[in-house]
Amino acid sequence: MKIKRLRLTGFKSFVEPAELRIEPGLTGVVGPNGCGKSNLLEAIRWVMGESSPKSMRSGGMDDVIFAGTSSRPARDFAEVALVADLEGAALTSIGDGDSDGELEVIRRIERGQGSAYRANGRDVRAKDISLIFADAATGAHSPALVSQGKIAAVISAKPAERRQMLEEAAGIAGLHVRRKDAEQKLRATEANLERLDTIIGDMA
Ligand code: ATP
Repeated sequence: MKIKRLRLTGFKSFVEPAELRIEPGLTGVVGPNGCGKSNLLEAIRWVMGESSPKSMRSGGMDDVIFAGTSSRPARDFAEVALVADLEGAALTSIGDGDSDGELEVIRRIERGQGSAYRANGRDVRAKDISLIFADAATGAHSPALVSQGKIAAVISAKPAERRQMLEEAAGIAGLHVRRKDAEQKLRATEANLERLDTIIGDMA
């Protein structure tokens, strides 16, 4: 999966709609301190389903919405859209139907209302979004998204945390989620079978 475009509206310092095109080759973002370079990386992480306000350098998730300045009022919502080339990968989590080789994920947050996600025009759950990106060996916690201080965090990570990074890089993180789901279903089915046995026993 290759990220091609990022569109931000009302996200942190990006009050006006802004589009970042990521062309083949190297893309550099330069600018003075505080101009919003890290906010761009956070926008990528956020649209991929980041659920921790702390890793958005925020107290609460609503803090990603443009908070206003002395000359501009605050906004009521923030939206980030990410367009990626699927490079032949399948979209098993949401069904392939209308993918056309491209994935467009939109996350929108309204003040006090929480987030909603769309993937290729369909309403989806946060879990679907993280599976889409996990299957493509990326996501909000991908080691490919290197923010300030991240290198030091990798060096001092515990073995279990390092293993998690490797699993994310290998694209198998989504399998753990699916395994947990399957185990839950299995337990529910076993409980149903036991109930059925009791009912059959009562009838005999
Ligand atoms: P540096 O080079 O110092 O690391 P940077 O270019 O990475 O800076 P960011 O940290 O991305 O800059 O942006 C910080 C700016 O974003 C600050 O000016 C801050 O006020 C602004 N900002 C963050 N959240 C919001 C928000 N919710 N509403 C408005 N502005 C915000």
